[in-house]
Amino acid sequence: MGIIAKGAKCNVSGCDNDGIRSINTAKVENAGLSVSSNGKKSVLCKTHYKEWKKETKDDRSLERARYDLF
Ligand SMILES: [Zn+2]
Repeated sequence: MGIIAKGAKCNVSGCDNDGIRSINTAKVENAGLSVSSNGKKSVLCKTHYKEWKKETKDDRSLERARYDLF
């Protein structure tokens, strides 16, 4: 939650929107999104978060373990 408080931007390559969620970087990359985060968590904007969720819809039962709510 700290990185969003600092006004973090979406970590997806080429995207400069405000972040709304931070998600495990590996999970984001597994969904086919290219992120430029150095950390274990990547910040996603609303658009990319929706995109990520769409990619992970087959694993809905695991969703709660995949991301942190702010
Ligand atoms: Zn984005």
